[in-house]
Amino acid sequence: MPRQSTVYDLWMSAPLAHARSALRARDTEIVASQVAISEIEAPTGNERRRGAWIAERFRAIGLRDVRVDAADNVIGRRDGAADVAPVVICAHLDTVFPPGTPVQVRRSGARLVGPGIGDNGRGLAAMLALAEVIDGTDMCTHAPVDFVATVGEEGAGDLRGAKHLFDHAGDARAAIALDGAGDERIVHRALGSRRFRITYRGPGGHSWTAFGVPNAVHAAALAAAKLARLPRPASPRTTLSVGRIGGGIAVNAIPEEGWLEVDLRSTSAAVLDRYEHEIHAAARAASDEENGRRARGTPPLTESIARIGNRPGGDTDAAHPLVALAIDTTRLIGREPELATASTDANVPISRGIPAIAIGAGGRGGDAHTPAEWFDNTDGHTGLARALAIVIGAAGLATAAHAAPPAA
Ligand SMILES: [Zn+2]
Repeated sequence: MPRQSTVYDLWMSAPLAHARSALRARDTEIVASQVAISEIEAPTGNERRRGAWIAERFRAIGLRDVRVDAADNVIGRRDGAADVAPVVICAHLDTVFPPGTPVQVRRSGARLVGPGIGDNGRGLAAMLALAEVIDGTDMCTHAPVDFVATVGEEGAGDLRGAKHLFDHAGDARAAIALDGAGDERIVHRALGSRRFRITYRGPGGHSWTAFGVPNAVHAAALAAAKLARLPRPASPRTTLSVGRIGGGIAVNAIPEEGWLEVDLRSTSAAVLDRYEHEIHAAARAASDEENGRRARGTPPLTESIARIGNRPGGDTDAAHPLVALAIDTTRLIGREPELATASTDANVPISRGIPAIAIGAGGRGGDAHTPAEWFDNTDGHTGLARALAIVIGAAGLATAAHAAPPAA
């Protein structure tokens, strides 16, 4: 198995061995920076303070061209031996926790507990650790490596940072997102989602005296019922859910407004397109149905659909060298690779044809997106070494004696 031996040779090469022992030696320091990062509030849309902290670290580490882009992503580059398209390694800055959430990290036995300690305090601390060991001299890559702390990965952020980055950054040979703890998962399928808000408006009126004018909440409910009845393919797995519905001002009034919010997800962009079409058709059929019942001479309901979220989907083929590299490296550290589907910063490069994966940044974690989120640094440095080997495998090692062709 030549592929296996390539990864093994890379792992055993002098620069990698040296970097692995450096990561092990800095284990405590890396966890301390993870805690420091987590204790800087960074709700989606307000990541600046945490971003400034990361930018400071990028400069201290000696990355080149450290800058904050128009979206507030923090970017720094480590030059490679060749002037070619870079490998992008990114970690998101934002957390799901609203402003004012207590972010102090406390220790509980072997665990560190605090909102965002794993997602994505770990990813950010790991990215800094890798930027430090990929120092451009002892450890020099063939392709440049761009380190990026992104904004707007969670929820309503809608991958804003990654979208801006890949709109403006030019070409990349591969992208690797460090997201949360763990050393087994390899996210190579990007779960795409689109979110819609459907709104109906009409004249409204008294529920007795104006009866017969079209009812905007009835239309919203009809639309929800039609969407609930839509058949969904099991493969590619696709979900469609009405998450919120509302409207009206009083029980004895015909509402002027009725609305619903719809969440649509699939790994297939073609299926997303098709269901977007279905959602439009259902919304229109619901207003037609309600308008068809209205009293003569009353004005019809109008309907509008706004896209309130759009996360592109797709996949990096499981047989792609980048995924194979991640699988082999995971086995090399004695873990069983788990190929997974998720919605991460990697969605954006994947949707643009750039090979990309998202991986955990070492250690164990749980209860993400809750204030009880925890991280346990068991084998943390091994997980960091795994991430490092994947990045180096993708960028290629430039040291003459150990030159390895880039995998992606
Ligand atoms: Zn995350």
